[in-house]
Amino acid sequence: MFLRELNTGLDHLKGVRTTADKLHRLALFGIIDLASLLRHYPRDWEDRCIEVPLRNFQVAQVCTVVRILAHDWSWWGSKKILHVFVEDETARATLVCYKGSYLGKELPVGGRFRIWGSFTYKRGEIQAGSFEYEALELGDTRKSNFGAIIPVYPLSDGLSQDLFRRFIRQALDQYAGPLEDEIPGSIIKQEGLLPKAQAIRAIHFPQSMEEKDLARRSLIYEELFYLEVMVGKRALERKREPQPGSPGLSRREAPPLSPLQSRLLERLPFKLTAGQVAAVADINRDISGPYPMARLLQGDVGSGKTLVSFIAALGAVDSGGGQTTGQAAIMAPTELLARQHAENAARLLEPLGVRIAFLTGNVKAAGRNQLLQALAAGEIDIVVGTHALFSRDLCYRNLRLVVIDEQHRFGVTQRQAIMAKGDRPGLLMMSATPIPRTLAFTVFGDLDLSEIRDMPPGRKPIKTHLASISHEARVYDFVRRELAAGCQAYFVYPLIEAADRGSLKDAETMAERLSKQVFPQYPTALIHSRLDEEKKRITMEAFRMGELKILVATSVVEVGVDVPNATCMVIEHAERFGLSALHQLRGRVGRGSDQSYCFLVYSDQLDEAAPGIRPEDLSEAERTRMGQRLMVMKESTDGFLIAEKDLKFRGPGQIAGIEQSGYLSLGLADPVRDAEALARARSDAFAMLEADPGLLLPEHHCVAEVLSRAPPFRDMGM
Ligand code: ADP
Ligand code: MG
Repeated sequence: MFLRELNTGLDHLKGVRTTADKLHRLALFGIIDLASLLRHYPRDWEDRCIEVPLRNFQVAQVCTVVRILAHDWSWWGSKKILHVFVEDETARATLVCYKGSYLGKELPVGGRFRIWGSFTYKRGEIQAGSFEYEALELGDTRKSNFGAIIPVYPLSDGLSQDLFRRFIRQALDQYAGPLEDEIPGSIIKQEGLLPKAQAIRAIHFPQSMEEKDLARRSLIYEELFYLEVMVGKRALERKREPQPGSPGLSRREAPPLSPLQSRLLERLPFKLTAGQVAAVADINRDISGPYPMARLLQGDVGSGKTLVSFIAALGAVDSGGGQTTGQAAIMAPTELLARQHAENAARLLEPLGVRIAFLTGNVKAAGRNQLLQALAAGEIDIVVGTHALFSRDLCYRNLRLVVIDEQHRFGVTQRQAIMAKGDRPGLLMMSATPIPRTLAFTVFGDLDLSEIRDMPPGRKPIKTHLASISHEARVYDFVRRELAAGCQAYFVYPLIEAADRGSLKDAETMAERLSKQVFPQYPTALIHSRLDEEKKRITMEAFRMGELKILVATSVVEVGVDVPNATCMVIEHAERFGLSALHQLRGRVGRGSDQSYCFLVYSDQLDEAAPGIRPEDLSEAERTRMGQRLMVMKESTDGFLIAEKDLKFRGPGQIAGIEQSGYLSLGLADPVRDAEALARARSDAFAMLEADPGLLLPEHHCVAEVLSRAPPFRDMGM
């Protein structure tokens, strides 16, 4: 039996009482059956093999057998506190029990117990305020937590480590023995990995720290192996059946532009950048090639990816084959962005006779039905929209290309749903949050990669300034001069409205303040995710037309919004934003020919790290990291470099674009930290697939799961 097949419910475990409340709490962690229970891996392990007597409390956590000498009670305000005096062979100490005076009965005078905890010297005695204890003789169903390496799990209130350990032990004892290996024996041998049954046991209750490390390594390898099997399978599948028609062009021939593409380029008031030209060539090679396009287009904010996607769409329209024209769907993560694309498409492409439609969840019945009919009849060439583009009732006549903008905002499931609307349509994914190349190749290894490294000419690099919040007035003065010169400005805040702990500025309050006190002469508006779409649209439109001079926003303006006349981006509490978000936000300015500025205003103490974190919880290292993040922003405008830094700071797994890609809902593995293992897993997986391409391995295990766990469409983080 494979681990994934253990869908026995938790209430089948013997010897552990499972209340509905506990089951509910476990379910919040996604733990619903034995398989998910056993895959809830420890976050740490404590070595309780070595006895540490009380006398040595300063050197290590105490782990010893004590005798209870006496009880005493004291009051702390209205609270009764129990003091339990204990001794082992080396010293006496006091266990201070703040909660649960029931401990008086649990730890009777004269009794002998194992105890475990951190002790300190206070008021003339050795004390511990939190500790674990255990009777010397345990019943059959309970195993000692001492004399072993003990796992520590990520858990929340209402679930104790002790209870969870008992769950795990029971599951291991009753079910883990016969677990089968999921990766081929030859690979287990060659990599020196543990068999699955042993790895699962040892990741929870290892015999030694070495065994724990080996178990980790084995499970990590397994995850990466399956990741790469999935990637490889997709790559091979796509290339298995050549498309009917043309034989494809060699890498070097520059593919000709399609008729519509040529007409668009003639009409443009500017020339494509070298990067755009190369990307278009890649795309046209795909379109005329033997396999459907599956390409990731990476390019910094403002590098002109939208135009490239329009050119790709025109290519698809021209490539319909036979008598019908092809269709293209362009999908954006927010309604704001989708609308902007649709308007640009209408402006640029309708004059060529291309029929454009716009579809979002907000398009209502009558208009929608008409639109659906037109799409199905092939009377629409290019449809632009949000995730509404893959609603069930949508049919395309001849969908040839799917473009996904800001692809990291979508999960794999959405991607697949829209791909299923056509007969193997091409896929062009775009991202302004570049993933470092090496990683892109292994994680998105089933995609071809194009990168736009240059910017349209005439752009002046944005000047970035850091300012502490106590100097905000100077920033406002600077912005006032820009406004007086006819430019526009964004102000961005981490919160929509005032939080209880009023120390953070929020968009609502600041919109008031900026419009009434700071810039009373300039029209100002507020935009954030909770406004309805119509209100957002009107506001954006007014800002774009220059009727509004100041836009106060949350990160809702992070993605894609394009207003060339805006030259100032002020981000307050900048330390609260991640690097890639800061880079995206800054990318909202510097889109025209005027010099643009970005001000990163930070709290003096850098002490507001993240919601829910108190300043005193922040380590020095974290403060430094926040400062360094802002320095990176000041020193670089290169999105590719910033992405590399982001990777270093945030640690892997969290990089936008990977995390949400759905490819990587991995448990233990981390493709950046485990880069070496990833490379080996990749070559093992590809070798195996190539030897036997029919292999349908990934139907099960983590791969199927990775797909099913792809994040549901979220209102994109606005
Ligand atoms: P992004 O890559 O961030 O999606 P956009 O597609 O929004 O960038 O393009 C940014 C701006 O640059 C748009 O206003 C677009 O019209 C303009 N643009 C695109 N390509 C060129 C070019 N080759 N020359 C001049 N301007 C361009
Ligand atoms: Mg864009």
